[in-house]
Amino acid sequence: MAIDGTERAAHEQPEEDSDALGERRRDDLLSCGTVMAHLWLPEDGDAAWTRQPLGGETALGASAGLLRATAPEGHRWVLLAAPSVRVNGSPVAAGIVALRDRDEICADGRRVFFSTESLAEVVPYPGGERTTFCPRCRLEIAAGTLAVRCPHCGVWHHQSAELPCWTYAERCVQCDQRTALDAGYRWTPEEL
Ligand SMILES: [Zn+2]
Ligand SMILES: [Zn+2]
Repeated sequence: MAIDGTERAAHEQPEEDSDALGERRRDDLLSCGTVMAHLWLPEDGDAAWTRQPLGGETALGASAGLLRATAPEGHRWVLLAAPSVRVNGSPVAAGIVALRDRDEICADGRRVFFSTESLAEVVPYPGGERTTFCPRCRLEIAAGTLAVRCPHCGVWHHQSAELPCWTYAERCVQCDQRTALDAGYRWTPEEL
C-alpha cells in the first residue's frame, strides 16, 4: 500500500490578511495573563538605552509610578501620574492611564519608553482549547512538546531536536519576525 504524504496537509491556514491577524494575535497576547513588560531608560551622557524589566510597582521619578493591574482578562500596566507627566505628548489628565506597547512617558524631564515586546523562548507548549498545528511542518503541536511562540504574531512553532521548525528558516512562517534565538528585541527607542 502506498503512503501518500500529501494527505496529512489537511490543515487550512486562516484566510485573513497577515496584518489583521498580527493585530488580533497581539491583542490575545495582551490578554493572556502574562504580560511581560519593560522600560527603556536613557543612559546618562550618551545615546544608548538600557532595558529594565518590570516586576510589580515601579516608581518613575517623583511624579509617576507604574502599577500592574489585574483585570478579568489578564494583567495590564497602568501609569499613575501627576498632571505634569505626558504620555505620547498628552498630559495624564485623569491621573491614570493604561499603557500600551511603545508608549513614550515624559516625567520630571526624563523620557522613557514602555514596551510589552517579549523574546522568542523555547518552552513546553501549554496546550489550548483547540488543536494547534505548526505552520512550518503542518503537524499538530502536542501539549508539553518544546515549542516557540512567535513574539510578534503569536503563532506557535515546534522547536525541538526532531522538529526545529521555528529556527528552520530565517523568518517566522506568518510574519517577518527573525527566528534566531539570540535575535534580541525588534524595537528599541534607538529607531526613533
Ligand atoms: Zn513543526
Ligand atoms: Zn510570527
